[in-house]
Amino acid sequence: MIKIDTPDYPIYFGVESYAVLGNQLNEKQYSKLLILTDSTCNELCLPHFLANLPTTIPFEIVEIESGEPTKNLETCQGVWEAMIDLGMDRHSAVITVGGGVVSDLGGFVASVYMRGIDCFLVPTTLLAMVDASVGGKTGVDLNGAKNCIGTFSMPQMVLIDSVYLETLEPRELKSGYAEMLKHGLIYDESYFNHLKDIAQVDFSDIETLIYHSIVIKTQIVQEDPKELGLRKILNFGHTIGHAIESYFLINPIKERMLHGEAVAIGLVIESYISTVILGLNLKVYQEIKEAIQYIYGKQLFSETDVEEILTWLKLDKKNRAGEIRMVLLSKIGECSFDLVVSKDLIVSGFEDYSK
Ligand code: NAD
Repeated sequence: MIKIDTPDYPIYFGVESYAVLGNQLNEKQYSKLLILTDSTCNELCLPHFLANLPTTIPFEIVEIESGEPTKNLETCQGVWEAMIDLGMDRHSAVITVGGGVVSDLGGFVASVYMRGIDCFLVPTTLLAMVDASVGGKTGVDLNGAKNCIGTFSMPQMVLIDSVYLETLEPRELKSGYAEMLKHGLIYDESYFNHLKDIAQVDFSDIETLIYHSIVIKTQIVQEDPKELGLRKILNFGHTIGHAIESYFLINPIKERMLHGEAVAIGLVIESYISTVILGLNLKVYQEIKEAIQYIYGKQLFSETDVEEILTWLKLDKKNRAGEIRMVLLSKIGECSFDLVVSKDLIVSGFEDYSK
C-alpha cells in the first residue's frame, strides 16, 4: 500500500486505505463519528466513501453548503450546535469528506470542540489532496479575510483516493494544479518543468503527481510545523493570491474566483517582483508567466481593482508592523521569505501581468 509517514500522522493512498481507516476508528473506539461534507460531495462522494468504510461505530452526516462563502464562523457555529444536539462527546471524532473548504472548516471545528477532538481527512478535490489536507492548518475566513481565524491541528490520518477526481469540474482541477505548480516553483525545478507544459502531462497517473506534491509539502512542514520560518515558502503566490480571492469573494459584481485561480495570478506577479528584489532571471519570469497564463488565461484588473486588492494585502498574516512581506524566488526551486515589498512594486507587478 502506498503511504507517506509524517511525524504526526500517516497519509494513505488508494482503495486499500479504507480498511486502515476502519481499523483506526474501531481501535480507538470512538463514541460517535461526525462525517462532515458539503452539498455537492454529499451527493457525489459520500456514496463511494460509505460503501468502502468498514466500521460499526455510529455516525451522523452533517452537510454544509458548497463553496468558499460557507467557510466562516457562522457555519462553524451551526456544526458545533449539531454536534451538541447529536450528543458528541470528547471521545467522538470528525471525518471530513470534501474539498479544502470542508477540511479547513472541519479541522477547525474539531480542533476546538470540547478543547479538541480527533479529525480524519478525506480530500475530494485535487487542491485538497495536494495541499489543504496536508500540514495541519485549519481555519475559516472572517468578513472575507482569508483564514483569519484558525489553528494548527494535525489530523489523525489523511486518505487519498483519486477516484473522487472523476466528478470534479475541469476548472476545479486546474485550481488544484496551481498549488502543484507552486510546489515546483519553490522547491523542485524539474517538477515545475514537468508540469508547466500541461498538454504533455499524463493525467491517467495523477496519483503519482499528487504523491510528489505531498512529499514536497510534508518535507517543508516537517522542518517548520508552526510556520516560524521555512514553512512560509508555501505561501509563494498567496500574498497577492489571497488578497485577490478576498476582493472577489466580497465584491458582489465580481464573478467567483477559485482559490487556485487567484494563486496562479499571485505566482506570476510575485515572480515579477522576484526579478526586481531577488534578481530572478527575466527570461525565466517570462517562461513562468507564459506557462501560467496559457493554463489560466489572463484576468483583467482595472486601476480600482488593484487599489482595492492592495487594501486587502494589509490583512495578510505574514505582514509585520504594517509592512507587506512576501516569499520570492531567486530561481526556480529556490526562494526566500519575509522580504519587504513596496506597494509601488506590487502595482508594477499587476501592470506587467496585464501586458
Ligand atoms: P472547495 O472545498 O470549495 O471545493 C471546490 C468545489 O468542488 C466545491 O463546490 C465542492 O463542493 C466541489 N467538489 C469537491 N469535491 C468534489 C468532487 N469529488 N466532485 C465534484 N465536485 C467536488 O475548494 P478547494 O479548491 O478544494 O479548496 C479551497 C480551500 O482550501 C480554500 O478555502 C483555501 O483557503 C484552502 N486551502 C487550505 C490550505 C491549508 O493548508 N489548510 C492549503 C491550500 C488551500
